[in-house]
Amino acid sequence: MQYVNSASEVIEKVRKDGRVALTELESKQMLRSLGIRTTEMKLAASRDEAVALGREIGYPCVLKISSPDISHKSDAGGVKVGLAGEEDVARAYDAIISACREKFPSATVEGVTVQNMALPGLEVIIGMATDPQFGPVMMFGLGGVWVEVFKDVSFRVVPLTRYDARTAIREIRAAGLFDGYRGSEPIDTSALEDILLRVSDFVKETPSVSEMDLNPILAYAEGAIAVDARVILHPVGEDR
Ligand code: ADP
Ligand code: MG
Repeated sequence: MQYVNSASEVIEKVRKDGRVALTELESKQMLRSLGIRTTEMKLAASRDEAVALGREIGYPCVLKISSPDISHKSDAGGVKVGLAGEEDVARAYDAIISACREKFPSATVEGVTVQNMALPGLEVIIGMATDPQFGPVMMFGLGGVWVEVFKDVSFRVVPLTRYDARTAIREIRAAGLFDGYRGSEPIDTSALEDILLRVSDFVKETPSVSEMDLNPILAYAEGAIAVDARVILHPVGEDR
């Protein structure tokens, strides 16, 4: 990962570019500076670079389009997971670039990020949005397709207490999944509480952040890791 030291450095860079949307890489740099685990990732600007990074990061790895203009990466054909070797990576690079060029001909494409593939876990979402009445609000729910199908989510107004975080997680209808299902171990919900609290504390102090979407986070018996992230700033001059 190309590191920066702080969330404010990321925000400064995005402002300088005249953007409000952070790329996945920038969003994850911000999360890591808050102490939230993410997959390791690096940007490749060519097929050869992607292959070299795949070798460095190890297999299986994941390739994703990196463009400030493409926010729904899989819809654009911009995500390939489970790549097992150099040939897979080279093929995935070409497939991603051509699919995204075709779908978004005028998008600025920085290249493709190469990241390690997270172990399978329970997919959850943590989000933050700015409500016109309540200000920043945190959302928690099941991730993946389930969020769209069941709309099984809970909300809490920022700033959250530990109790708010715990009850937000427990009150979704599917909360039974966290206790372990089909013989699997229970999910480490305290790791999810920590993420809710870190994001809540961060947005409370950072009025330029308008939206955050950690979707999905993979939750495990021990810990949790954000595999996708997207942060949006308020337009210049419209901070909270
Ligand atoms: P989108 O922009 O379409 O939301 P994502 O980055 O969320 O793209 O990738 C789509 C899906 O691919 C995720 O929901 C997750 O299931 C899987 N995925 C993405 N990145 C990884 C990763 N590093 N490790 C494991 N699975 C991943
Ligand atoms: Mg996603």
